[in-house]
Amino acid sequence: MARVALVTGGTRGIGKAISARLKADGFKVAANYAGNSEAADATAKELGISVYKWDVGDAAQCAEGIAKVTADLGPVDVLVNNAGITKDGLFHKMAQEKWDEVIRVDLSSLFYMTRPVIEGMRERGYGRIVNITSINGQKGQVGQVNYSAAKAGMIGFTKALAQECASKGVTVNAVAPGYIDTDMVAAVPEDVLKKIIAGIPVGRLGKAEEIAHAVSFLASDNAGFMTGATLTMNGAQYIAG
Ligand code: NDP
Repeated sequence: MARVALVTGGTRGIGKAISARLKADGFKVAANYAGNSEAADATAKELGISVYKWDVGDAAQCAEGIAKVTADLGPVDVLVNNAGITKDGLFHKMAQEKWDEVIRVDLSSLFYMTRPVIEGMRERGYGRIVNITSINGQKGQVGQVNYSAAKAGMIGFTKALAQECASKGVTVNAVAPGYIDTDMVAAVPEDVLKKIIAGIPVGRLGKAEEIAHAVSFLASDNAGFMTGATLTMNGAQYIAG
């Protein structure tokens, strides 16, 4: 029986590439999204996957959404916590709203999404959780105190939950992409982006498909001995210890 994979923010950017890769790997794929129904419908059609709209920063919507995915496809075997946002600004000028929103969507979502699936995974003795963090959660970034805090929090979550679930066949890992060619990076001003690329030893932005291949491994049966890890994929821009 095909395993079920749920990818948050799985309809655009890195998440779309992950949905495509997992579908090609033989998973039944459910992709969640926030509100861009046009992109979601196009992805559903293109990849032949199911798409579901809810806000990952809302606990009740996550519980309801996961229940719907489970009713449609079966219990979730693989959860990819990919959905994320940025609300940049220097900290000394940052409105609390920007802090709250990024922590809610990028970090609290890990609780809201993972809590409803983890007991079932433990009971069934199998599960794969993959959290998409960021280079900026590893090294910090000017203008992204909120985002860096949320993304670093994801790494702590990964390490702690991995230890709690290690004996239950459930692995928990993170992937930390550097700058990847998606809409999120397209929003960065051109002169800033040029400087960023100049600081990437590989000499280019990463591709969403490259991140998806790493997720594909972590989501596979073969990755059972890898848990609590953070895979750094940033073209050598920052080599985390
Ligand atoms: P995009 O902005 O291209 O896509 C974001 C996806 O997440 C969309 O499907 C969007 O849905 C969904 N989403 C956003 N907010 C919510 C929400 N509240 N509830 C449900 N879904 C939501 O992002 P990327 O592909 O660039 O980034 C994906 C992940 O990778 C993020 O966690 C990001 O922080 C991380 N990352 C990205 C890097 C990059 O260079 N791009 C670098 C390092 C990390 P909708 O289409 O409806 O808006």
